[in-house]
Amino acid sequence: MYQKCPICDGQGIVSKPPYVAGDQNTWVSDRTSYPCKTCNGTGLIVAPTPNSEAKEANNENI
Ligand SMILES: [Zn+2]
Repeated sequence: MYQKCPICDGQGIVSKPPYVAGDQNTWVSDRTSYPCKTCNGTGLIVAPTPNSEAKEANNENI
């Protein structure tokens, strides 16, 4: 079961270099996009076990 990567919003690329900490908002770089490290550029991640996500998933059925 896969779901859209929340880090890159399914794009597979991110604007922040992978070596920049998550809470760091400024960095020096001449590039504007990097492969998403969380999903390895696929835009998809393995979904967590459905137990804790059941309530959110049910919203799609309404
Ligand atoms: Zn991603």
